[in-house]
Amino acid sequence: MNVLVVNCGSSSLKFQLINSETEAVAAKGLCERIGLDGRLVYQPTGGEKEVTEAAMPTHTEAIKMVLDALVNPNTGVLKSLDEVEAIGHRVLHGGAKISDSCIINDEVISVIEECCDLGPLHNPANLMGIRACMELMPGKPNVAVFDTAFHQTMPEKAYMYAIPYEYYDKYKVRKYGFHGTSHRFVSKETIKFLGLDPDNSKVIVAHLGNGSSISAVVNGKCVDTSMGLTPLEGLVMGTRSGDLDPAVLDFICKKENIDVTEMVNILNKKSGLLGLSKGLSSDFRDLNEAREQGNEDAKRAVDCLCYRIIKYIGSYVAAMNGVDAIAFTGGIGENAIPVREAVVKSLGYLGITLDEEANQTRGENKIISTPDSKVTVAIVPTNEELAICQETAELVSK
Ligand code: AMP
Repeated sequence: MNVLVVNCGSSSLKFQLINSETEAVAAKGLCERIGLDGRLVYQPTGGEKEVTEAAMPTHTEAIKMVLDALVNPNTGVLKSLDEVEAIGHRVLHGGAKISDSCIINDEVISVIEECCDLGPLHNPANLMGIRACMELMPGKPNVAVFDTAFHQTMPEKAYMYAIPYEYYDKYKVRKYGFHGTSHRFVSKETIKFLGLDPDNSKVIVAHLGNGSSISAVVNGKCVDTSMGLTPLEGLVMGTRSGDLDPAVLDFICKKENIDVTEMVNILNKKSGLLGLSKGLSSDFRDLNEAREQGNEDAKRAVDCLCYRIIKYIGSYVAAMNGVDAIAFTGGIGENAIPVREAVVKSLGYLGITLDEEANQTRGENKIISTPDSKVTVAIVPTNEELAICQETAELVSK
């Protein structure tokens, strides 16, 4: 089945046309600067990358350009749009009401709308993409794959914040977790790759990228994850602080004479690796290069990143009362050899020894713990687009 996978941001739209049976990507690309001047980057597999500058006042024009590119007689990969059998949309927030992917109908649209205040940057953009596809390809099934859904199996003791209960009652303030599509995909792949028993398995997935989160998965179901009400909680990320004492907000706001909204913006955009490295970079590669040349600011940032991962792994081993496998994924997890080395070398207490040679691998399934380790550690690349394609095809074929 040909599935068009769509991931809309407020001014951007990423897409891939994937065949769910062969897993082959026919074409992919990106619309940028929607609402401004507009630019489409289109890449058919095996063909030349094309860049087209054209006005895209809304997501509807952007999707229209993508569809035109897909059926273009010279560089397109489809004869007609009839060959697109379904559209899979990445949607950020499904709140507490949605625990799985679903075929989009009026009810699902209302839930995505209701969750706009929980995901104010993403949910409105996701809705624009959904409406544009419904308008331009009437009658085709659209499926929503939610970033929060996989984490809905967390027990109450894991998702509740210890604040007055009325805030949960009134506003549903709780931990939701994000990157769920990746955690679901990678935990399943890890079980398959390592030949674990799906009904008797404890897996920790460390999705480490520009945004990072870690999850504890028992028998394929998420029992805890590091991101919270928003994607700010948890690990040290590219520009996000992750965990901190909430009183820090009030303290800095008073000292700097700024309001909470500005402070939260600083925690989202100027903190994490960027903040810790005194503004050097939010990108791991830049920091690693600087660190290798003796830059102390870069070293501090990388040390804090690794230390937080080590602490979370320990807490999830405790939460699950054991662990069978730990999987590294995401841009850093799949590629950053020194991060995996620092983390895995701190897990000796679990009977894990790093296989230094295997750890030189990048971007492919690979066991990086020695065969005599009591817990298996592996690199398991994520593929969120393929996961969205598979979930869409599965739902549509039911
Ligand atoms: P993501 O958000 O998953 O695309 O991951 C982005 C992060 O992965 C950035 O911090 C990159 O520096 C890091 N990254 C990507 N490729 C590599 C690589 N080959 N080696 C080390 N880090 C990498």
